[in-house]
Amino acid sequence: MTETISLSTDPIARRWWADVAGGRIGYERCADCGAAQFYPRGHCTACGSRRVETQYAAGTGTIFSITVVHRPPSPALQPFAPYAIALVDLDEGVRLMAHADPALAIGARVRAGFTSFGGRVVPRFAAE
Ligand SMILES: [Zn+2]
Repeated sequence: MTETISLSTDPIARRWWADVAGGRIGYERCADCGAAQFYPRGHCTACGSRRVETQYAAGTGTIFSITVVHRPPSPALQPFAPYAIALVDLDEGVRLMAHADPALAIGARVRAGFTSFGGRVVPRFAAE
């Protein structure tokens, strides 16, 4: 059985997932104060400006935290278990949650790849 994870109806989130399907990880940078942020929101959380621009990460970063999921949130995802979820500090200065190689440890340098998971493409990090 394959279940497609439902996507948000939010246009900013939908654009982000479309970029991921195309092999790019987007984040926002404020045109007024220069702050970088993830996830995309359409406004700057540092200064309140609406002049935020989508930029694309190089895909390299460092593992901040990692855990292995043995009991997925949906029965449809059970065939994927165990799988690892990490918080990755991208070199651009933002942190995102993504799939990762379960053998990674905190502090490991990583590079993004992409894989199919639950019916859609997701970022997945492996050793650089
Ligand atoms: Zn700002």
